[in-house]
Amino acid sequence: MFSLRAVAKTFDNGTIALEDISAEIAAGEFVALLGPSGCGKSTLLRLLAGLEDPSAGKIIWDQDRRPVPGDIGFVFQDATLLPWADAAENVFLPLKLRGVTRGEAQQRVTTALTQVGLGDFTHARPKGLSGGMKMRVSIARALVSEPILLLMDEPFAALDEFTRHRLQDDLHDLWRRTGKTIIFVTHSIYEASYLANRILVMSPRPGRIAADLRPNLPEGTSRRGSAAYNALVEQVTDSFKHIMSHE
Ligand code: ADP
Repeated sequence: MFSLRAVAKTFDNGTIALEDISAEIAAGEFVALLGPSGCGKSTLLRLLAGLEDPSAGKIIWDQDRRPVPGDIGFVFQDATLLPWADAAENVFLPLKLRGVTRGEAQQRVTTALTQVGLGDFTHARPKGLSGGMKMRVSIARALVSEPILLLMDEPFAALDEFTRHRLQDDLHDLWRRTGKTIIFVTHSIYEASYLANRILVMSPRPGRIAADLRPNLPEGTSRRGSAAYNALVEQVTDSFKHIMSHE
């Protein structure tokens, strides 16, 4: 889908957030960007979203096609819903901002809410929704534009563990069903290992890709407790020990 070619980002205050980031990301991959706080994960997402420009290097999109608005969906840690609007209205917002009429959008809004398991909650307001449900609305709002790329910045970090597990299961299923390309920022080794089929392990100061892992865990309900999962967690943990010993 796109190539990162020696991408670097230095901020005006001199902070070198990213240095020499190179990777090829294929359509349909579920990539976890994994690393400790401050290693440049969010900065890399912002570069991909076009919210910032690299200070060196290039992001080359396939067929030279830079994504247009709607091609990229963004989900943050905070669901950031409009409190006075119901779930359907919150999901409609990005389409409304692009001039799509309510009538044209209706089916897409319903589909997006159904995709995240909230088909029965279209008229619920954020006040009446749990933290996990608010995050589901936020994911539906990203999906409603039918993006080719979903960028997620620690979306489950503020949720309790039970809810987080449910949302991880559902996101993984959604990825398998839809084949969307997902770039998911996390500092959790467990979360990256459970969700992704590719893990880019980042090292801090300046942020670089220290390891590029392509786990291939068997699918199924016992994934989280499987021997393959435990072995993967150990492998990723080892790669961190290696990185941190060079800090
Ligand atoms: P992560 O997402 O891995 O926690 P960030 O991408 O947020 O890391 O930040 C990487 C580094 O860049 C940090 O040292 C952070 O303080 C710095 N940084 C991020 N945004 C800015 C900015 N707008 N101006 C200056 N420094 C920044």
